[in-house]
Amino acid sequence: MNGARPALNVIMLGPPGAGKGTQAERLARTRGLPKISTGDILREAVQAGTEMGLAAKATMEAGNLISDDVMIGIVRDRLNREDARVGFVLDGFPRTVAQAAALDEMVNGRGPLIVLAMVVPEDILVRRLATRRICSKCGATAAVDWNVCGKCGGALIARVDDSIDIVRERLKIYLRQTDPLVNFYSTRGTFRAIDGNQRPDIVTAQVDAAITAATSAAGAAQ
Ligand code: AMP
Repeated sequence: MNGARPALNVIMLGPPGAGKGTQAERLARTRGLPKISTGDILREAVQAGTEMGLAAKATMEAGNLISDDVMIGIVRDRLNREDARVGFVLDGFPRTVAQAAALDEMVNGRGPLIVLAMVVPEDILVRRLATRRICSKCGATAAVDWNVCGKCGGALIARVDDSIDIVRERLKIYLRQTDPLVNFYSTRGTFRAIDGNQRPDIVTAQVDAAITAATSAAGAAQ
């Protein structure tokens, strides 16, 4: 390791609206890590009108998942960039067991993988998503206290896939495809569940404590 700090590799699991993006953003900032949101990467591609964005748009608007091959390729390329050598905070990936297995291979030899699962009751998720906003210009997710986009100053709008019917579909898909990841990871010493139905600052403190505990569990297992 040459005296450098060990890499901190974190994934945030949880249904849409659980607060993964907000907590991932805070964690990335305080720990000096890149925040990698696959939803943001896809929305930026849609805004930019790239080939991948055009191909993904309808699937995203319907609340369905993009194929594992495409998503694994996106994340592999992103994790190979220089800034991810110190670790990363992944938000929105993995979403299927195939993606989780691919991530294990990518992270192999790069330090432990810390898995934080945010737990929030469904009625709260639906309520939160109904009031969520993103930037109409750059596609960034807005923080609760912003009036305009904090990144580019653009106007804030609701996400097309945050409409009530699509939200119900996304929650169904989450239960079918992504919730099994809790079983996939829960026997690992680096897995922690977090109660996401609390004030954001309290959740942030618990995320921090969970990372400290999971990191020392990983160290003890070596
Ligand atoms: P999110 O912002 O994480 O809610 O993602 C928005 C949409 O992008 C999802 O509803 C999917 O259509 C797509 N997406 C993001 N991440 C993934 C992923 N890991 N696997 C498949 N589709 C994804």
